[in-house]
Amino acid sequence: MSAPNKNHDPVEVAALAPAAIEAAVDDALAAIAAADSLDELKRLRPAHQGDRSPLALANREIGALPPSAKADAGKRVGQARGRVGQAFADRQTQLEAERDARILVEEAQDVTARVARRPVGRRHPIELMSERIADLFVGMGWEIAEGPEVEAEWFNFDALNFDADHPARQMQDTFYLEPSDGGLVMRTHTSPVQARAMLERGVPIYIAAIGRVFRTDELDATHMPAFHQVEGLAVDEGITMAHLKGTLDRLATELFGEGITTRLRPSYFPFTEPSAEMDLRCFVCRGADADCRTCKGTGWIEWGGCGMVNRNVLTAVGVDADRYTGFAFGMGIDRALMFRTGVSDMRDMIEGDVRFDAQFGMEI
Ligand SMILES: [Zn+2]
Repeated sequence: MSAPNKNHDPVEVAALAPAAIEAAVDDALAAIAAADSLDELKRLRPAHQGDRSPLALANREIGALPPSAKADAGKRVGQARGRVGQAFADRQTQLEAERDARILVEEAQDVTARVARRPVGRRHPIELMSERIADLFVGMGWEIAEGPEVEAEWFNFDALNFDADHPARQMQDTFYLEPSDGGLVMRTHTSPVQARAMLERGVPIYIAAIGRVFRTDELDATHMPAFHQVEGLAVDEGITMAHLKGTLDRLATELFGEGITTRLRPSYFPFTEPSAEMDLRCFVCRGADADCRTCKGTGWIEWGGCGMVNRNVLTAVGVDADRYTGFAFGMGIDRALMFRTGVSDMRDMIEGDVRFDAQFGMEI
């Protein structure tokens, strides 16, 4: 800052010369106009409005002027600073408006756009079919019964009238738990639930048992060492095979559609007498297509076994076989699911591939 000097002429102070002031303003206005972002505008401020800016330095010189010159110089510097300040403010407003407009465009949301949906989980088709079967029997007034998967050999075989030397007891068919003479097996069918239920609940009894069973089969397209069965048992006074046939036809209709019935063919099981193989009317061709691949042109599909409960079974669990009769049936749920879905390889059902559940894990 120059020292006070009453004789000093303001125009001789270079920083206060009108041309210098004007040049400082022009510099500032040009820079402000060229700033194309708010950040750049902010960076310009110290050079044009800061303490070391030409106009701030000029302002300081005013104090050194003679009183007569102060007003004029002050007015000139003040107006210059005002113009620069206004230019900053205007440009600031302008850039903010541009930024806001740009954000509106860049961050615009198309509310009509399709969004990527998170895939919805599905339940396993075996589970769904099991529930569907359970619902059917509950709807008919039956109860759902359960039994352990590790079963006493007595329940799995003896109580069901299997002879001690019946081939099904062989280790090549049945998983025995160690020690092998300990009398425990992985149940080979859901039939032991029959004996358990009659012992626990007495008769009359109407139960369905749905669950996993185990046999020493190699895993291939049509066999699994663990699979699912539904077992039905009805014991009451006056039960006949006609009741059995009606129940099976109802189940077939529920699972495969209206008009799908069953037929019985004579067979043998230790725990039923008489016994029958149960066939399902081919739900694809209904017996009308000699080239049908599902039933191989026979019009029928093997579905399971059934029969009247052997009186030895009733006697084994303390039921009066002269007063009560009953029927029982059992069938593979996995096999029924294969029919319903057209899946030809059972391994697809147990591999846990989410695409399988997604395709078949819904009820139609
Ligand atoms: Zn067919």
